[in-house]
Amino acid sequence: PEQRERIVVHLTCKALNRNALEAYAWRLAAEGIRNILALTGDYPTAGFGGAPQPVFDLDSVGLIYLLSAMNRGLEVPGRGGKKQTLPPTDFYIGCAVSPFKRTERELVPQYFKLVRKIAAGARWVITQLGYDMRKFHEVKLFLEARGIRDVPVVGNVYVLTKGVARLFHQGKLPGCVVSDELWELCNKYGSGPDKGREFFRELAAKQLAVFKGLGFQAGYLGGLAKPEDFFDIIERAERFGENDWRDFLREIRFSLPDEFFFFEHDPETGLSSSDRINPVYLESKKRPARSREVTWSYRLSRWVHRIAFTRNKGLWNLLKRLYARWDKKPGLAAKAMYSLEKTSKFFMYGCRDCGDCSLPDCAYLCPKRWCSKCARNGPCGGSHDGICELDDKPCFWARVYERLKAYGEEEEMLTGEPVLYNAQLMYTSAWANTYLDRDHHAPKDDSADTEGKSSPPNGG
Ligand code: SF4
Ligand code: SF4
Repeated sequence: PEQRERIVVHLTCKALNRNALEAYAWRLAAEGIRNILALTGDYPTAGFGGAPQPVFDLDSVGLIYLLSAMNRGLEVPGRGGKKQTLPPTDFYIGCAVSPFKRTERELVPQYFKLVRKIAAGARWVITQLGYDMRKFHEVKLFLEARGIRDVPVVGNVYVLTKGVARLFHQGKLPGCVVSDELWELCNKYGSGPDKGREFFRELAAKQLAVFKGLGFQAGYLGGLAKPEDFFDIIERAERFGENDWRDFLREIRFSLPDEFFFFEHDPETGLSSSDRINPVYLESKKRPARSREVTWSYRLSRWVHRIAFTRNKGLWNLLKRLYARWDKKPGLAAKAMYSLEKTSKFFMYGCRDCGDCSLPDCAYLCPKRWCSKCARNGPCGGSHDGICELDDKPCFWARVYERLKAYGEEEEMLTGEPVLYNAQLMYTSAWANTYLDRDHHAPKDDSADTEGKSSPPNGG
């Protein structure tokens, strides 16, 4: 049992839907394993006989929400239609954050999503692997700036080899970054007689020392190395002098050209300054630059939402009554409205008729159309230079961020209940589902406006 306490299971959403994730979590609980790192997961690209179908029924926020609900005691339908509460689990739920992003439109949504993960129930954080100690430190600073001081942060140390460094440098592994400058060093030492063994071990040991110096809860040591190599790295880290880490953090500063930092640089420490947010960023919040993302369709969508989809305002009550009537007596009018909805949303957003619409959550961009993982709660960690990890389009959430920022609304990404897609609504009218409180926009508390609420329709 003591050893099981040390195991951290990485649970991802790429190949399991919510039922399978829950079943897997029950199995872990039965086996006495508590520590779960909840991740969205990389997009699956290879498998037996070809590439598998990706799942991504939940994303990391949804998974954390599910595991937290299990910790509270999951409510399920019991005998005779009564609710039954299952025994609570005791998972120690962790989440990941990827600070190694070059642009503001990628990095800030990463930090915002981290806050959402913690609000959903994550109790510890691990960073993506990286080789810029100032960027690692920013994660702690950001959490502190948001008043989150009681969530331990673990630094990630990946022991490089020349081959792995090349893959990271070429962007072959989503979210893993090796800059040109670091690659030159890896190439130089990796071509030496010891294949860079000494250099790579020393680099990892120095990173561990910096994490300790900066007050990280722990350093997570990984890589394609043997156990004795890991022990050697730990021993090296322990042999350093008490204040050596201050020099190391200046050495390990392999950021990308023009990389965005959330906080201002402090030349005295070589780190980011805890009390000075990047002034260019602050200025851009006051006067957002013109963005190509702010299209006529975005402006129109905001206007339509304001007059027709804002609860208890504008046309809301009228349309709600109409949809309630059509729901009781479906007829031609209901069919015509559904056709109008599907056609207009297809041409404006590339709508896939999922029935549980996240356009208002995503600045009127469709996650089913534009995000490869259909992530509805914020970006995965896979983007690079603003491009999706699949290399085929700009990252969906970077676009969402730009659209929101143009209206000073980007901090809305920090708030809101986790969005869980309801597949029962597939191929049904999302407008009807919103007005009739069948979708995820329905109020969750007792103050809910329940007039016209009905059970989900049966399929499409
Ligand atoms: S209904 Fe679903 S598929 Fe259609 S626009 Fe909304 S989120 Fe996208
Ligand atoms: S669009 Fe962005 S959030 Fe979606 S899968 Fe690609 S990198 Fe991840």
